[in-house]
Amino acid sequence: MTTDVTTQWSGKLYSGGWVAGSGPRLEVRSPATGDRLAEVASATAADLDAAVAQARTAQRDWAALPYDKRAAVLLKAAQLLQENPDRLARWLVAEAGSGQGKAAFEVGLVTTELQESAALASHPYGEMLRSVKPRLSVARRVPVGVVGVISPFNFPGILSMRSVAPALALGNAVVLKPDPRTTIAGGFALADLLEEAGLPAGVLHVLPGGAELGAAVVAHPGIPCLSFTGSTTAGRKIGEAAGPLLKKVHLELGGNNALLVLPDADIEAAASVGAWGSFLHQGQICMTTGRHFVHSSVADEYVAALADKAKNLPVGDPADPTNALGPIIDTHQRDRIHAIVTGAVDQGATLAAGGEYTNLFYRPTVLSHVRPDSPAYTEEIFGPVAPVVAYDTVEEAIELINGSDYGLSVSILTSNPYAAYELADRIDSGAIHINDATVDDEATAPFGGSKASGVGGRFGGPHAGLETFTETQWITMQQDIERYPF
Ligand code: NAD
Repeated sequence: MTTDVTTQWSGKLYSGGWVAGSGPRLEVRSPATGDRLAEVASATAADLDAAVAQARTAQRDWAALPYDKRAAVLLKAAQLLQENPDRLARWLVAEAGSGQGKAAFEVGLVTTELQESAALASHPYGEMLRSVKPRLSVARRVPVGVVGVISPFNFPGILSMRSVAPALALGNAVVLKPDPRTTIAGGFALADLLEEAGLPAGVLHVLPGGAELGAAVVAHPGIPCLSFTGSTTAGRKIGEAAGPLLKKVHLELGGNNALLVLPDADIEAAASVGAWGSFLHQGQICMTTGRHFVHSSVADEYVAALADKAKNLPVGDPADPTNALGPIIDTHQRDRIHAIVTGAVDQGATLAAGGEYTNLFYRPTVLSHVRPDSPAYTEEIFGPVAPVVAYDTVEEAIELINGSDYGLSVSILTSNPYAAYELADRIDSGAIHINDATVDDEATAPFGGSKASGVGGRFGGPHAGLETFTETQWITMQQDIERYPF
């Protein structure tokens, strides 16, 4: 992709339309080629103040619209994206380093999110309550006002849209701060789509910037509700900052997800699930398989099959559709991955595949005999690395799985799925997939983690949307003014 300076967002931010920002310019670069793709404006505290003031006014009119008008905007956006998936996919490939299959998958997720959120606009939003008095007593969900959305770089389109679309459907305005490495795929391309679909000006704002701007969004008194997706480290800081401000906070954080291969599993199929779970999008997914627990009777066979896949996966510029893996997002992440891999080997792990890189292209890596105190085992690596650990009993494996600080996604592979279903009772995880990968998401299913993987709600489905992006209001109404003793 060549430099894109002709778009309406060149040198701009999105706040009541495409406008000049007051901060320094922010370059958008391809992690695969280093090419400069575009240049946008970064937002300052003054831009944030202006955006929030405008959003608060626009939100009242947006919430007052009949629900079908809000639904129509979201449905139109879904239709526009279906007609031209490339308007988002090309940025997912060029700016976020997504393989073409991952980009197409993500565009599909964004489309479904828009459609499901459109349905949320017409969903029942309250209950009739019994009352001891002859009156109407109703609990209804009302919009929170302005929702602050802060999103990460890895699945920038869906991880922004899964907050933006339900928040809008329920009558909120949104201030979105995407990751500065994916300003367009995680922000501008979505604003462009919603604007063309008829979203009134001022209802959605996209403010480019980094952690400092994110902290300003968290602290802003005009933003009562925050939807954050990102690392557990940043999530804890946001929780600390938002707690005293008494904000409604939804945190979707990191993971170190386990794949449990039971001794009766088909090992070739298991290795494919393991490779997909650890290597898709270079392992830069919160649901990436971070620990492979394999029964000792089949562990060698599994490691050999997984290493064979790793050695044969093509890695390179995702503009070439034959490449299964693209670049790591930046040198900082790549160096962290490499330090974890070499550290594990120094601690006695066996490198069965990978462990090397060229530029930002890290080879899919398989480590066996990983020590349980090694960072390759305890930490979220966020790279294409599959640490394998052998276990002897299922009890031991369950203890190892639950021993993680995280609780986002677990998968169990077996030829006896009902036995695995019983094991699920003993696993502390937001999602458990039997005979499928840890990487899985659907707009209709509740998505979220336990423990250090998140707090404050779920994404997906009508209940999750209402819980996260509205407040409950109790209303009573009676014919005559109540008489009291004094
Ligand atoms: P990160 O936490 O560094 O950044 C995410 C976003 O938060 C960015 O927009 C960043 O600018 C902003 N930010 C950073 N510090 C902030 C602060 N103190 N206050 C306000 N905003 C701040 O995340 P990352 O490392 O770039 O992304 C990868 C992480 O995100 C991984 O841990 C991954 O597991 C997690 N993630 C979780 C989910 C989920 O649904 N649970 C999905 C995707 C990614």
